[in-house]
Amino acid sequence: MSDRRILFSFAHPDDESFTGAGVTRMCAEAGAELTLVTATRGQAGKRGDPPLCAPEELPATRERELRAAADILGIQRLYLLDYEDKQLADAEPEKIRTELVDLLRRHRPHVVVTFDPNGLTGHPDHKAISRFTSDAIQAAADPRLRTDAAPHQVTRLLWTPSLPPWEFGRQTDLADRPGIDFVIDVGAWREQKRAALTAHRTQHLAVDRHWFGKPDVDRLLSVEAYRQAWGPTLPERPMRKFLVDTPTE
Ligand SMILES: [Zn+2]
Repeated sequence: MSDRRILFSFAHPDDESFTGAGVTRMCAEAGAELTLVTATRGQAGKRGDPPLCAPEELPATRERELRAAADILGIQRLYLLDYEDKQLADAEPEKIRTELVDLLRRHRPHVVVTFDPNGLTGHPDHKAISRFTSDAIQAAADPRLRTDAAPHQVTRLLWTPSLPPWEFGRQTDLADRPGIDFVIDVGAWREQKRAALTAHRTQHLAVDRHWFGKPDVDRLLSVEAYRQAWGPTLPERPMRKFLVDTPTE
């Protein structure tokens, strides 16, 4: 049985599309059950140039953008938590643990994908969601923590690698680098990735800067990579397919 249930845990609307839109859509088409948890509405982010909404409209606007991107990527369930953008590190640990444990035990993912402990770009919210996610995975497996749902042990935890995702397509030695455990050709899902990134309309400055403004944008949109934080030993490194066959429940 493959790692069929996947839960993505990120900080902001657009993290899911920047880090792995191609793999997400590919897994959806392969029949995987996809759940996305986004901890904030990105309410402290940019509004576009010229601004696409008033400052007070940004949370709702970004939620709509995220829902549109999730639909494009085939994500079946989206949970938008109510934490403050740029203040996620100050979230009450018990509260966010309870929320994440509940989602982990209800949806019982084989694979969880989140930011690496350095937060990919060093963003404090990215580091925070990585920490809270690891904390919740351990708590979800602990039978002494009683909730309505039974304990659940995640099979493997994947991180974003310590390299910006818009750089993957340019690195000819990507497969040789330590810490790059999955290198996935997502060229067949490039248009869906393009559409998901475009759906985050208020974030067009960053999307254009990193992706659409580059002459080799097609190549940059065609490669995604992950690092395995822990889990069963991979049959090869790097893996060239994302859904690993491992004995799971
Ligand atoms: Zn982010």
